[in-house]
Amino acid sequence: MADNENKNDNNNFFNKNPLVTFAIFSVVIIGVFKMLVGDGASVNGAALGNTSKRVQQVSYSELKSLVDSKSVSKVEIGQSYIKATASDGATVYTTRIVKGDTKLVEALDAKGIEYQGFSETNWFTEMFGWLFPFLLIIGIWMFFAGRMQKSMGGGLLGMGNSKKMVNSEKPDTKFDDVAGVEEAKEEVQEIVDFLKYPARYVEIGAKIPKGVLLVGSPGTGKTLLAKAVAGEAEVPFFSVTGSSFIEMFVGVGAARVRDLFEQAKKDAPSIIFIDEIDAIGKSRASGANMGGNDEREQTLNQLLAEMDGFGTDTPVIILAATNRPEILDQALLRPGRFDRQVLVDKPDFEGRVKILKVHMKNVKMDKDVDVEEVARLTAGLAGADLANIINEGALLAGRKSQKTVKQKDLFESVERALAGLAKKSRRINPKEKKIVAYHESGHALLAETTVGAKKVSKVSIVPRGLAALGYTLNKPEENRFMMQKHELWAEVDVLLGGRAAEEVFIGEISTGAGNDLERATDIIKSMVQTYGMSDIAGLMVLEKSRQSFLGGVQQSSREYSEKMAENMDEFIKSSLAQHYEVVVARLKEYRDAIEDMVALLYKKENITGEEVREILINFEKKNNMESKVDGALDEISEELKVDASMIDKSQVQSDAE
Ligand code: ADP
Ligand code: ZN
Repeated sequence: MADNENKNDNNNFFNKNPLVTFAIFSVVIIGVFKMLVGDGASVNGAALGNTSKRVQQVSYSELKSLVDSKSVSKVEIGQSYIKATASDGATVYTTRIVKGDTKLVEALDAKGIEYQGFSETNWFTEMFGWLFPFLLIIGIWMFFAGRMQKSMGGGLLGMGNSKKMVNSEKPDTKFDDVAGVEEAKEEVQEIVDFLKYPARYVEIGAKIPKGVLLVGSPGTGKTLLAKAVAGEAEVPFFSVTGSSFIEMFVGVGAARVRDLFEQAKKDAPSIIFIDEIDAIGKSRASGANMGGNDEREQTLNQLLAEMDGFGTDTPVIILAATNRPEILDQALLRPGRFDRQVLVDKPDFEGRVKILKVHMKNVKMDKDVDVEEVARLTAGLAGADLANIINEGALLAGRKSQKTVKQKDLFESVERALAGLAKKSRRINPKEKKIVAYHESGHALLAETTVGAKKVSKVSIVPRGLAALGYTLNKPEENRFMMQKHELWAEVDVLLGGRAAEEVFIGEISTGAGNDLERATDIIKSMVQTYGMSDIAGLMVLEKSRQSFLGGVQQSSREYSEKMAENMDEFIKSSLAQHYEVVVARLKEYRDAIEDMVALLYKKENITGEEVREILINFEKKNNMESKVDGALDEISEELKVDASMIDKSQVQSDAE
């Protein structure tokens, strides 16, 4: 049984070839059977049931002459062989029967030798004949049960042994190994503290998040960060992949989730890390898998049940990674589950320098290596790509039998990486970079100088390559449920700022503003249709939204006249034009400030809201202008600033696409 388990653990050849295993198993059993029972030609003392006599094999004719000379006193005839006991009783002669020969019996009669028939099977062969089918059945059962057990982690044969289906590790990864994602590190710092000193938090009654969603493109260090949390807190790290739950038989995924949590709770404080959680956590509302994947649904339900099942005083934290948070089932994001999201961004210039340095630590670098130069060349690449570049560089240097890695090797390695990535992900080219920089600066200026607009927290021209829809990184309770009319108009201005900046500073318009214009149009449309904020419809609500019966999708019904539709179209068009004019004027007024922002963006790729405000205020002071920045700030409470920053990130993101 132990053997069987080992085989399964190793997931080796035998597991992948069940038929072959079965065949080998059968052959071995039959072979053993044959060997033990033997056949007539190899009869030995044991088979004869008498070990004190000497056994001698003779030929049939020899036996006949022994009979003729009356040298034997007793003859026993079986189905395949004959044994004859010598007259002195000391020797037993054996020989194979010669079929069709009747002369022997006649001779025995003639000589008056005692003879009799006998059955060749004895207790041993008899028993084996019984046992063989049983052994075979048990063997088959063990084989399949073992397979089941492997996928269920315990179960059938697992009773009484340690049920180690998910192996935990105690990583020695530290926060220092994760570079360029300072914000994310800050956000998970609290978790480390909680895992280290759970009693402190439990006594006070503090609510610690159970689940934290790490959001970011592949290779940005989500797994690494999760490991570092475990490493810093010195707790066991249980790592599973979302898709690994789904590959199995129905019901097994759910059983695995149960076992995983059981184990993690037993080893608490501990961390569960679920990579690619979208594999199980895809939105159930999305019609695509209607009535489909039972297994996924069961697994998801089990996960939700487990997360709800333990209190915040159990120091088990579930970290999950995804690069597509927008497709996750809403149920997963509810309070008490993955209610906290941490963005693990692609690194900006400074971040790339830090990551490169981390990975250069273990490689002998030449003095001529310029890290910043490498960082400049690798805009848009993730941590994993950078790690790879260093390694490739080291391989190149090794191939050339160099003692150290030279800048030349790194350049070559960068080139390879970029060529390989060019096909896979969109990398921004210099022309696009310029457009994006002005476009984003346009948004930022309008956001900071328009009363009621959400303030800037970060402007970025780092290409993200996340889903085209972008995503909002706000917690559910941080959502704004209500906006005033002037805030909606302010948002329209901010949205128009991107496109207007392209026109003013580049002289041509790109497709990059398409999404902005769509959103601006939608805002004005709902002001007219739903919120009664325009003169053309007054308080009349033109469009009721209702839940589609499938849930999730909104369907709308049109309940107004053709004329009203025309008026509305006209209103939307003219107000967009009016606001656009104001926005263009603002951009021209702040022309130099925009140039400063763009220059800083070029240098740093990410700039903070504070840096934007500093540029604007300096500009206003220099030109003796009344500050619009301060005025706008007065309008907004601290609380809203946090919220605005969350929403703002997503806007920057969708633009980068
Ligand atoms: P993800 O889980 O986001 O896809 P990983 O954590 O698996 O990415 O990253 C793969 C490897 O890339 C890491 O093991 C590490 O060597 C390197 N890496 C990625 N991001 C970083 C980072 N921010 N700092 C240092 N190394 C990184
Ligand atoms: Zn934009």
